[in-house]
Amino acid sequence: MTQSSFDVVIIGAGHGGVELAAALRQHQYSGSIALISDQPDLPYQRPPLSKDYIKRAANTPALVLKPENFYADNAIDLRLGVKAEAVDRESCSVALSDGTSITYGHLVFATGARNRKPPVPGLVHPNVLELRTLADANRIVQALPNTTHIAVVGGGFIGLEAASLLRGMGIGVDVIEMAPRLMQRAVSEPMSEWFLAHHRGEGSTVHLSTSVAAVDQGNGGADVQLSSGGTVKADAVLLAAGVQPNTDIAEACGLEVANGILVDEHLVTSDPAISAIGDCAAYPSVHLGGMARLEAVQNAVDHARCVAGRLTGQTKPYAALPWFWSIQGAARLQIAGLSRPGLNGIIRRGADESRFSVFLYDGEELVAVESVNSPADHMAARKLIGSGIELTPQQAGDPAFDLKALISARG
Ligand SMILES: Cc1cc2nc3c(=O)[nH]c(=O)nc-3n(C[C@H](O)[C@H](O)[C@H](O)COP(=O)(O)OP(=O)(O)OC[C@H]3O[C@@H](n4cnc5c(N)ncnc54)[C@H](O)[C@@H]3O)c2cc1C
Repeated sequence: MTQSSFDVVIIGAGHGGVELAAALRQHQYSGSIALISDQPDLPYQRPPLSKDYIKRAANTPALVLKPENFYADNAIDLRLGVKAEAVDRESCSVALSDGTSITYGHLVFATGARNRKPPVPGLVHPNVLELRTLADANRIVQALPNTTHIAVVGGGFIGLEAASLLRGMGIGVDVIEMAPRLMQRAVSEPMSEWFLAHHRGEGSTVHLSTSVAAVDQGNGGADVQLSSGGTVKADAVLLAAGVQPNTDIAEACGLEVANGILVDEHLVTSDPAISAIGDCAAYPSVHLGGMARLEAVQNAVDHARCVAGRLTGQTKPYAALPWFWSIQGAARLQIAGLSRPGLNGIIRRGADESRFSVFLYDGEELVAVESVNSPADHMAARKLIGSGIELTPQQAGDPAFDLKALISARG
């Protein structure tokens, strides 16, 4: 008979959910665990979808987060293709789309985020491609043989990764971005400028401060009308206009939600029997000095480890340093810490123009570092910010100043 009562129920089997189940077992947790996934596939990694996967689809190494036998071997009841539809907090139960329901001792939302779909005529259309799931990536692979030109809506990480990938495959690309600069929410102005030149250098046409007014899907193609009055003639549209957190069920059961399920420094929601982790959770960040909701693998994984620690008696407030990476053609961007408007950016130049970092200061305090093709700077930045070792702006901007030696001396 199918088990219907669990000590821990995790909704969502992405980076956060799978890591939580695995970390609980690593912490010798002996209670029962259910992992509910609305996706039909064995849980998989998302980052390769906008990087290698599309190019190498015919010969792709497995994307799975864990081998198939991992779940049974670790007594994790993984339920694929089953959606959690509602939570009843009084009876501590979750109603599932297969008509059953399960009860929990502790519930964790790890529901991630879904693509934002601007209400533009023609943009919400079955022919508009997206890039969030494995099925989305497979649809792109299928569409490519008939695509010579694509309009990418959104100049954030995923849109730009896809733009580089598609240009590299010989496809014409127009990137349409509403904001006045690329990746505006996440990176400093010098970084946006460098990436603008990088994408134009790759051959993409980039439209800034431009939104999509309508998409005409007639004649088998996609004519994208721009707010500037121009038209991009494309065969396909890739929608990459940001995401919204999956908070509907949490909100419906009365949890506090505001751009994410609100959690405290232990990642507990407004109900002590429920936690939230990863893309769907808004948490108080010691690094930002306010509420943060991040969309990064590191964030989901470190959240998961924090909750696994708490559920096994090692309670610590969440304080992991955020870090992130993005691969856009020949440019590998790595970010340590959290950028925000008003910071002072100090450029540290590398051996050539394709390598540099921006060290971002709030007064004398180093709060974030963005690096392009400079992994040593990135690793040093994680240690410097994480441990609070002082690096003056003058030292940061001097490429001859030895960051590694500073860390060794103070570490
Ligand atoms: C194409 C792409 C490329 C990316 N590249 C990078 C990168 O280079 N670096 C980086 O740091 N981050 C990257 N990210 C972001 C990263 O993948 C996410 O931040 C990470 O997956 C978040 O983990 P999560 O567990 O919170 O959510 P997810 O991994 O999204 O998992 C949430 C899961 O919950 C499921 N779910 C939602 N609601 C329900 C429900 N009611 N019932 C059952 N299941 C449900 C969803 O279907 C999903 O499978 C990328 C994302 C995408 C889409």
